[in-house]
Amino acid sequence: SGGRVVVVGGGYGGATAARYLKQMNPGLTITLIEPQETYLSCPGSNEAVAGLGDMGTLARSYDWLRRELDIGKVTARVARLDRQRRRVILNDGAEVTYDRLVLSPGIDFRWEAIMGYDEAASRFVPHAWKAGPQTALLARQIRAMPDGGLVLITAPPSPYRCPPGPYERASLIAYYLKKHKPRSKILILDAKTRFSKQPAFEQAWRELYGDMVEWVSSEKEGRLERIDAAGRTVETEFDTFRADVLNVIPPQKAGVLAEQSGLTDASGWCPVDPLSFASVYDPAVHVIGDACQADPMPKSAFSANSQAKVCAAAIVASLAGEPPPDPLLINHCYSFVAPDQAISITGVYGYSRDDGQLIVRSTGETPPHGDRRREAGYARAWQRSFKKDVFG
Ligand code: FAD
Repeated sequence: SGGRVVVVGGGYGGATAARYLKQMNPGLTITLIEPQETYLSCPGSNEAVAGLGDMGTLARSYDWLRRELDIGKVTARVARLDRQRRRVILNDGAEVTYDRLVLSPGIDFRWEAIMGYDEAASRFVPHAWKAGPQTALLARQIRAMPDGGLVLITAPPSPYRCPPGPYERASLIAYYLKKHKPRSKILILDAKTRFSKQPAFEQAWRELYGDMVEWVSSEKEGRLERIDAAGRTVETEFDTFRADVLNVIPPQKAGVLAEQSGLTDASGWCPVDPLSFASVYDPAVHVIGDACQADPMPKSAFSANSQAKVCAAAIVASLAGEPPPDPLLINHCYSFVAPDQAISITGVYGYSRDDGQLIVRSTGETPPHGDRRREAGYARAWQRSFKKDVFG
């Protein structure tokens, strides 16, 4: 039994969806639309920032999906959706028709949220929250910084892509600085009052980096008021900080394609039915990954992969006139605190028929004195198997 499914966005969510749709029903025609010839992975990019891995290790090819599964990869950006006529319109005006559409466009930034920090400013004060030139720019700046300098990271309010990501980044930069520029400091100015895996991160920082990493809660510094990108200066309600390297991780929202297509609500993210990840605004359009609201799941590549599989199963069922199976989802996020030490957090999520929401079935995280070396081994194994699961 056939059917045309178009997947927009060839990141962790979209590539997984394309693969599993085809494997669950080889009769489907799958088109994957993504502007990049080669995808660049955010997982692993904090190591590249700290000079511990090169950019090449972040590249993911679509060749296997094309060759082994006959998935049509179209290298183009989607300009807009015509949901009435079930068509996707590409930048060059070409149109692609679908029976079901899967959107996994990732995030975009709320450029208006921080005074003084916009897309132009990010060309010299990087966010490095999408992998690519931004990652390389931040890596270069850290390498060029003098010993005794200050690296200032601003961490965004929730929800955002990869909750432990800013703290993993601080850890790995600390590893590099301790070795090469030991008089330097890292300051994290946080829009939040606590953060993911906080006890284990703070214990690791104390043990490995002394007082090199300092985390400041919004309770202490108040709001981030203004950024002077040219002067690399950050003003909070109560203080002014001048950095040698400034890394601003801005507040986030769903990828603008979702927003422009009328699939977001006032939160800036896409509300979905967690049984199928169908948009609450359009049963033929499914939204997965960072762009969707899947509380209490965090926005991670692991979550996007898990959601893609649930979504694929629901689409295959729906095209066959059957109801979606009951979903069970997992997130498991590793963070490296040094190249050979890692911590992790995990969650298993089910579906509650009573309120139509995802619910936590179980959770866990590395305790402050957990075995970080053993976890680093698991983290490396996960990186390998995850790459294989998504891109073959
Ligand atoms: P993405 O992977 O961003 O894919 C979206 C794709 O859509 C992009 O390739 C983009 O080009 C494409 N796209 C956007 N708009 C259009 C359009 N109009 N037309 C066509 N294509 C379009 N997660 C983990 O699980 N583990 C980790 O260790 C981890 N580490 C991280 C470290 C860092 C520093 C960061 C920033 C993130 C990390 N993450 C990690 C999070 C992870 O990268 C994201 O959660 C994941 O990429 C989400 O997948 P996605 O498919 O929603 O979006």
